[in-house]
Amino acid sequence: MSRVAYVNGQYVRHADAAVHVEDRGYQFADGVYEVIAVEGGVLIDEQGHFERLGRSLTELAIAWPMSARALKVVIGEMISRNTLRDGFLYLQITRGVAPRDHAFPAHAKSSCVMTARRARPYDSNEISRGVAVITIPDIRWKRCDIKTISLLPNCLGKQQARQAGAYEAWLVEAGGLITEGTSSNAWIVTADGELVTRDSSAAILNGITSQTVIKLAGEEGMALTRRPFTVDEAKAASEAFITSTTTFIRPVIRIDDVAIGGGAVGPICGRLIACYANYLDRQRAGG
Ligand code: PMP
Repeated sequence: MSRVAYVNGQYVRHADAAVHVEDRGYQFADGVYEVIAVEGGVLIDEQGHFERLGRSLTELAIAWPMSARALKVVIGEMISRNTLRDGFLYLQITRGVAPRDHAFPAHAKSSCVMTARRARPYDSNEISRGVAVITIPDIRWKRCDIKTISLLPNCLGKQQARQAGAYEAWLVEAGGLITEGTSSNAWIVTADGELVTRDSSAAILNGITSQTVIKLAGEEGMALTRRPFTVDEAKAASEAFITSTTTFIRPVIRIDDVAIGGGAVGPICGRLIACYANYLDRQRAGG
């Protein structure tokens, strides 16, 4: 069956899906997005993604294109029209189409686009393979808490990682503190077994996966502190990993040229990967 996309009220062939050249998303990156994982036909962390979407829209004063309830109906249609069991749903809302002018248009209707992509279901073994990250300066703006489609520094950083043979780039602000990855949140485990990830602020995106992992770690009775950490601290960590909707939890076994945890996946990360598999089972079952 061919892929179907949703564009402003129409379900169209993915290959034909297009927006107007004066859509402010295209002209100014004036829009927001969410990526939601689908496992066994069920949306993972639907509520968290909707809450963050609402917050991003509010922060940029972009109107909902339709009610949240109607949006969920469209998402359901997209899952069914694409016969999507496992994969990802991409949802983008922009300020709409208007003659090009930086200031907000008086009467634009928000644009809404959705695409669906199949992927293999969550596989603890596959995601347990460790990856390498590099560290680079964080050159982004000061509102990284908003999930905007303006991702140029993130793209440049990811490309730099790829060219260095790494999977992700960790972004470093003045003072040597790591903010997050270009498309993931950053975590370490200290020598005395404490999980550390940065507190939510305007410096990072408050990851939905990260919030779930924080909850799971709490249920497991693991020690966890939300605070920034430096590149030096990360390189001395006993374990490191990243979290995101598309990668779930992925162990980091090298930071720049330093092997972490002797280059092997650590026990705490391994335990969290197993907990996450369990969590997805519960979500699939509707809990
Ligand atoms: N930080 C950035 C910059 C991201 O792009 C993402 C992925 N959207 C994340 C963190 C992880 O967020 P989530 O777990 O909600 O996918």
